[in-house]
Amino acid sequence: MSHPILSIKNAIKSYGDVRALNQVNLDVAEGEFLTLLGPSGSGKTTLLSAIAGFIRLDTGSLTLRSEDITRHPPEHRNFGMVFQGYALFPTMTVRENVGFPLKIRKHSANDIKKRVNESLEMVQMGAFADRMPSQLSGGQQQRIALARAMSFNPQVLLLDEPLSALDKKLRADLQWELKALHQQLGVTFIYVTHDQDEALSMSDRIVILKDGGIQQEGDPNTLYNSPRNTFVADFLGKSNFIDLTVNGQTGNTLHCAAKDVSFDITSETPASAGSGIKVALRPERLRIGAPDQEFLPATVKQVSYLGERCQVIVTHPTLGEMLVSRPTWKTDITPVAGLAVSIGWEPDAPVILSPE
Ligand code: ADP
Ligand code: MG
Repeated sequence: MSHPILSIKNAIKSYGDVRALNQVNLDVAEGEFLTLLGPSGSGKTTLLSAIAGFIRLDTGSLTLRSEDITRHPPEHRNFGMVFQGYALFPTMTVRENVGFPLKIRKHSANDIKKRVNESLEMVQMGAFADRMPSQLSGGQQQRIALARAMSFNPQVLLLDEPLSALDKKLRADLQWELKALHQQLGVTFIYVTHDQDEALSMSDRIVILKDGGIQQEGDPNTLYNSPRNTFVADFLGKSNFIDLTVNGQTGNTLHCAAKDVSFDITSETPASAGSGIKVALRPERLRIGAPDQEFLPATVKQVSYLGERCQVIVTHPTLGEMLVSRPTWKTDITPVAGLAVSIGWEPDAPVILSPE
């Protein structure tokens, strides 16, 4: 990255025996929508709090443009923030809440009025300026929190799971709005979530955290299609995992065997004969057909109907259970528990994983 707006170098933070951040190195590009994604306890809030200046790193540094801000207090970093536990002030009106960051920055009354109105328009809450927070729904409160975070035109916006308390439909609407706002403003967003779908749908780039360390980073498409290891393949979407032995190679085709099953895999990287590898297979890359139509015999164990897709668990006599996801408009066979079927996939479907 040529000129990152923010650079985190060798960040370490421990709480007793817990390494909340374990040697994190991360550059954030100007204007990007960057998402920190990981399970609960993976260090997302700790990393965001360190960027915000709420906690001090044990070691490591933070650079904003070319300025070292490692020891700057939060109020000197000038980031906009929407944090859990950083709720609206309950005794202030919406207008006062949104104007608060401007007031402490000593803007004039006229300027505050103008910017508050602009910020409220941006989140379509202009009509609610004189309400108290308690008179707003959860989604409306989050909109106001966003307006407050943006009222002073920060160069970076930090958001810690801002939508996690909302119901699914409202969350989806606000995801679109946030994404549109990001495009409209061109401000750098650093967004924390534990929700894979949210990360995939909103981000320019995703950083996957586990136990305080970065597992992989990349754009949504790369991460989904080329997960580096089991953790990423399993956390971002669903995967089937198969342990294989490589028997030989012809060009970029690996001839592999899993137990008594032989098949080919397309691979750019060579693998020596006799070596063991692990692959991930996305459920939507598996085909399911009538017996003998595909190369592996299987039996349907369970079917789950999800509207546009249905998920089918099948069992193979030696490979065990595999998850298949197929569009519900496919009606060549109707999977029901106990049905004899066959499954197959293209040689480029399996993704070879690095050992962890
Ligand atoms: P996430 O936001 O990904 O759920 P956190 O950054 O909150 O994770 O926490 C990372 C780890 O650090 C967890 O194991 C958590 O229990 C621990 N931790 C976070 N804050 C504190 C704290 N103030 N005191 C002790 N342990 C903490
Ligand atoms: Mg958290």
